[in-house]
Amino acid sequence: MNLSPLIYFSRLYGADPELVTCGGGNTSMKEDGIMYVKGSGTALKDAVTDTFVGMKLDRLLHILDEEYPTEDTAREAKFVRDCAAAKLPGEENKRPSVEALLHALFPQKFVLHLHPALINGLTCSLNGEAECRRLFGSSVVWVPACKPGYTLAKQMKAVFDASERQIKTVLLENHGVFFAADTVEDLATHLNGMMNALRSCVSEFPDVESTAEPTQRTDKIKAVTGKRFIRFNASPAALKFAASREAAQPIMKPFNPDQIVYCGPRIKFAACDNCLNEIDANVIVMKGEGIYAVGDTEKAADNCMMLVKDALKIATYAQAFGGAQPMADELVDFIVNWEVESYRKSVNK
Ligand SMILES: [Zn+2]
Repeated sequence: MNLSPLIYFSRLYGADPELVTCGGGNTSMKEDGIMYVKGSGTALKDAVTDTFVGMKLDRLLHILDEEYPTEDTAREAKFVRDCAAAKLPGEENKRPSVEALLHALFPQKFVLHLHPALINGLTCSLNGEAECRRLFGSSVVWVPACKPGYTLAKQMKAVFDASERQIKTVLLENHGVFFAADTVEDLATHLNGMMNALRSCVSEFPDVESTAEPTQRTDKIKAVTGKRFIRFNASPAALKFAASREAAQPIMKPFNPDQIVYCGPRIKFAACDNCLNEIDANVIVMKGEGIYAVGDTEKAADNCMMLVKDALKIATYAQAFGGAQPMADELVDFIVNWEVESYRKSVNK
């Protein structure tokens, strides 16, 4: 299969910071019963032939007809095993994206899956589903938040089975978006149409970039978190949310799986130095000062801060759709314990 069109749009969208943060998102291409999908832990912007894993579509889709355990760990272990078994010979050393089966559900040739902050402003909002219907009618399908992996694949399959027309765009609550098309041009049309529609709804585009030097509190935060590397953000958006405990409310819980992978599940609000004891969080919102992100490595701290900025954008955009809605606690707990995401984190250290 000639993967040039797949490599082309993977790099194009992967290099756009408005669309991709920390390598989140994935792409695929199908031909003659074979699908090439992005490998887990690889970056779209650096896509080459080797980035993609060849899989047999019928083998992959067969997963949805099988009996699966109800217990989380056993079910997800079987899911990863069965996905791996659908790889083409010669692909044994690669690990396909955990979202491979979601790509396989679309009959179209090309699929683009992203987690852009602008789109997640809608998917992570209180009125997201109603606003999706109002803005896009039946042309965009809304899938409620659920456990990722096997459960999400089953839920999406049910949506596909119930639909009378071909589905081209799917919004996943507290997660992101799927676009599917038979040409790369049509993919761009779907993507740009949605981004433009959402841009026209949003009235505030937050400034999340910060050049502020870390404060003298840095050493204390390193000591209490036990992390060696620290990033500090005192951008206008960070200061707005750090103004008070009430102002910080919309960013105190994770919005999506990416944020859990790179920032961990907990965010701490601190009003004074005395509050900085025994902190079990990688993100600290310091009242009136800004936001700190910590990590065991330079890259981990950078990634954590990137996802903090993403969260500041999502929380701001969500104001246009009834206000921010974080992930349910039960889903956060599931992802924390999910082997698939710890793999993604381990290759991005
Ligand atoms: Zn995703």
